[in-house]
Amino acid sequence: MPLLVQLLASGSKGNSLLVCSPKTRVLVDAGLSGREIARRLQSSPAADGRLDALVVSHEHTDHVRGMGVLSRRHDVPVYLNQGTLEALPRQVGEFAGVVNFFTGTPFRIQDLVFQPFSVSHDARDPVGFVISHENSKLGVCTDLGVATKLVRERLRGCRALVLESNHDPEMLINGPYPWPLKQRIQSRHGHLCNSDTLDLLAELHHEGLRHVVLAHLSETNNRPERVREGLVRFQELEQWRPVSFQIGSQQESCRAFQLDQ
Ligand SMILES: [Zn+2]
Ligand SMILES: [Zn+2]
Repeated sequence: MPLLVQLLASGSKGNSLLVCSPKTRVLVDAGLSGREIARRLQSSPAADGRLDALVVSHEHTDHVRGMGVLSRRHDVPVYLNQGTLEALPRQVGEFAGVVNFFTGTPFRIQDLVFQPFSVSHDARDPVGFVISHENSKLGVCTDLGVATKLVRERLRGCRALVLESNHDPEMLINGPYPWPLKQRIQSRHGHLCNSDTLDLLAELHHEGLRHVVLAHLSETNNRPERVREGLVRFQELEQWRPVSFQIGSQQESCRAFQLDQ
């Protein structure tokens, strides 16, 4: 049975990814308001209003804003590591339940297996995930300053990838952000720029890769057209033909896609 995946929102104002097996519906991050995520869930072909669990990559507000509201409304537990739990902003509120996972150790939510791995980002214990269902693997990795060896190893062999393509370096340098923030974004603990993401993608290509969603685009320091320009060079190559590309947006959900065996 296929896995259904839909990026509900992506960008520095809020991130949320819906992953559904026939048995299990999980949100990875819930960074918009509870109300806005509920609205996007309603219009998703994958969700019928039911959620079984929430999973958190790290404590930044753009990943957890709606977490408390959704956990209480759906009466579902929140899976996160201890560092993230301790660093959560207070306004997130109470959870209906908490399940701690350990970075580096796989955990299961019904028929989905999550492999959390460390990423280089300025949060307490930030992680990316490989989510497996039967023989399909989905790699989810946003918010990382550099694609370390560990990240590249973990994301190998995935059938679908949701990867950060945060900024265009030129737009960042010439843009309005104060210098310390520019430095933070560019650092090893910041965010991946478009060309770093394309290099990572080229390295991760394999015959079984079918879906790529480029995510967490900065609204100030990036443009979807710039990201698309970079993708053209892949689309011209024969080996990339079976791959469908999408670019995440803050304003609306991406198209849901199925991950077959
Ligand atoms: Zn973020
Ligand atoms: Zn972050």
